[in-house]
Amino acid sequence: MAYVTSEAPTRRELSACVQCGLCLPHCPTFRLTGRESAGPRGRLMAMSAVLDGVLTVDEAFDDAMSYCLQCRACEAVCPGLVPFGRAMEGARAELDAQRPSTRRSVRKLILGSVLPNRRLIGLATFGASVVQRLRLGRLLPGPIRSPFNGMRSLGGRQSWVGREALPAQDPIGTIGLLAGCVMDSWFGPVHDATIGVLTAAGYRVTVPEQQTCCGALAAHDGHTAVTRELAETNRNAFADVDLVVSDAAGCTAHLKDYDHWVDGGFQAEVRDATELVAELIDTGRLPIVPGERGTVAVQDPCHLRHAQRITTAPRSILSAAGYTPLEIDPDALCCGAAGIYSVLHPDTSQELGARKASQVLGSGAPVVASANPGCEMQLRSHLDGKIAVAHPVELYWRALSESRLDTSSRSGAL
Ligand code: SF4
Ligand code: SF4
Repeated sequence: MAYVTSEAPTRRELSACVQCGLCLPHCPTFRLTGRESAGPRGRLMAMSAVLDGVLTVDEAFDDAMSYCLQCRACEAVCPGLVPFGRAMEGARAELDAQRPSTRRSVRKLILGSVLPNRRLIGLATFGASVVQRLRLGRLLPGPIRSPFNGMRSLGGRQSWVGREALPAQDPIGTIGLLAGCVMDSWFGPVHDATIGVLTAAGYRVTVPEQQTCCGALAAHDGHTAVTRELAETNRNAFADVDLVVSDAAGCTAHLKDYDHWVDGGFQAEVRDATELVAELIDTGRLPIVPGERGTVAVQDPCHLRHAQRITTAPRSILSAAGYTPLEIDPDALCCGAAGIYSVLHPDTSQELGARKASQVLGSGAPVVASANPGCEMQLRSHLDGKIAVAHPVELYWRALSESRLDTSSRSGAL
């Protein structure tokens, strides 16, 4: 059977590929296997063959599509501007429609009903915090153990959802911050830092209660109806803000794509926290923090670098915080986290994670900056506590807070 959904890859998207192969060296799964069917060109050819009725959405098609990390490194280097991410989302939507399986239904339930449910995430967070406190992580099954080992210490934080933070003076505008499915419970210090920095720049920051999970993971797994529903909820929740900001690169990339999922998309512009903070430093709304703080390795999340094409911003933020950013991977290959990929393809994920961790350690820096929670967990799991991992905005906020403390204690001593 050829394609059956309106999300399917289109002739226009697929015919943009001229089969030049320039994307191949940038594709992690092609580099690991050397197989054409595990590279972007082969995957696009398979999608075209189904469109032409030469192939069907069968097991082999499922394997070729499911093995893709959706890192979009191929898209970023493609001279034909093939919208690979969109085509792959379409192929996954077809798999969801044409090859229903128990495993896919379980994933749909988790991505569509568990992740967007704050109460269930709260329960899962509580359970994980107990496992952390009792140091029972080693007893978890393999595919879950690695992400679990990459978690920050949980518990003891007040949620930002339903709250707002005000600047010292009249606000220059209102920012709606995406709480994220797990960002608020698992990465609270990143939200604290983002809100601290944005209010210091003069913004009122609100974290609307009515918002939900961004839907990126559901979209990547082909669950179209769920993705649309989540996008609709968020569009309404953020109707009254001037800017929508996310401090999780994977979420921001998906929010920027909302006009595909709901009519008109967001009314407000969407910005990644790194992008906005770098701009606020550039325009003098936020200061260059005095002092030198040593080196920091920079990890480029795929959905920051390849999907949003943001590379300068995290480095500028780190420099403004007094750090010397170190490059670790000129090829910017995926770290292997890739949403739920680490659970679905643990071996490949581990191989890519170990590669990235050795690049980080090879830099000699005592800390690595990553602007995406999935990458952060993958790095922490593979670095095994050898060096610290933090969001670039978090490092800037720490430096700014320390410098303010320093200034006020010095003025107090005078
Ligand atoms: S996807 Fe782009 S880079 Fe890759 S083979 Fe096709 S045209 Fe070339
Ligand atoms: S999205 Fe990433 S893994 Fe998938 S084909 Fe492109 S480069 Fe390869």
